[in-house]
Amino acid sequence: MVARAPFDLVGRTALVTGANTGIGQGIALALAEAGATVVAAGRSSMAETVAMITNAGGHCLPLAVDLQQSGIAAEAVARASEAAGPLDILVNNAGIIRRADALDFSESDWDEVMNVNLKASFFLSQAFAKAALAAGRTGRIVNIASLLSFQGGIRVASYTASKSGLAGLTRLLACEWAQHGINVNAIAPGYVESNNTQALRADADRNAAILARIPAGRWGKPSDIGGAAVFLASDAAAYVHGAIIPVDGGWLAR
Ligand code: NAP
Repeated sequence: MVARAPFDLVGRTALVTGANTGIGQGIALALAEAGATVVAAGRSSMAETVAMITNAGGHCLPLAVDLQQSGIAAEAVARASEAAGPLDILVNNAGIIRRADALDFSESDWDEVMNVNLKASFFLSQAFAKAALAAGRTGRIVNIASLLSFQGGIRVASYTASKSGLAGLTRLLACEWAQHGINVNAIAPGYVESNNTQALRADADRNAAILARIPAGRWGKPSDIGGAAVFLASDAAAYVHGAIIPVDGGWLAR
């Protein structure tokens, strides 16, 4: 009997934003290991990610794109598909965080976070879905949400607003596009070791408080997030729409 391979991504093409480091790099590697050709997009060098994927026997193409730039989304999707072929998978991973008390929060820290985390994710999704519909293809969108899609947090007003907004957007796009065969879902990572959480890990008190609350007893690693991305991108998730899957060491269960 031939074994089914419902998580197999051979022949699929994935665009992953913010793939040079952290969670995006972990997801890019996991998708490539499952067989996808990965377009690794972002504003920094993708050399490390390309090398990791190539060494693992996979295919990875770099794409230079700064998601702060207004109107860049359609161009980014067009350039990615010119380089790698029509896209099957979009992972909206790129994200930034700014920390300040709400009373002191600046307009630039609001705008810059919303631009990358929410606005770019929406317009990349729109461009991806338009291209898929025009070509009569289906697709998978995986948004990288957060625990702060469910919780308030402190000192990260624009981040919480953006990630709560991204959860809502995931549900809205799922409702509009499920009928077209485009699955829109999200992953909500817990506390993961990356540049994003460097300040928290450097603060001994916050680090200890966070660790004490994680049932798994450790910070997550970028590689912990890849499996959920492969699942959501694969045939195994064909009937999953509008879900936000926590990958958090049990944080939300507590
Ligand atoms: P990270 O290491 O700081 O990665 C963020 C990625 O986004 C980097 O590749 C970064 O590129 C890219 N990026 C930022 N601004 C960009 C722009 N203007 N144009 C293109 N790319 C841009 O942090 P991470 O933890 O891996 O974060 C990845 C995602 O996971 C984010 O959406 C974050 O909010 C989310 N998340 C993280 C955690 C966590 O605990 N770490 C938890 C929940 C959710 P550069 O390297 O060039 O800055």
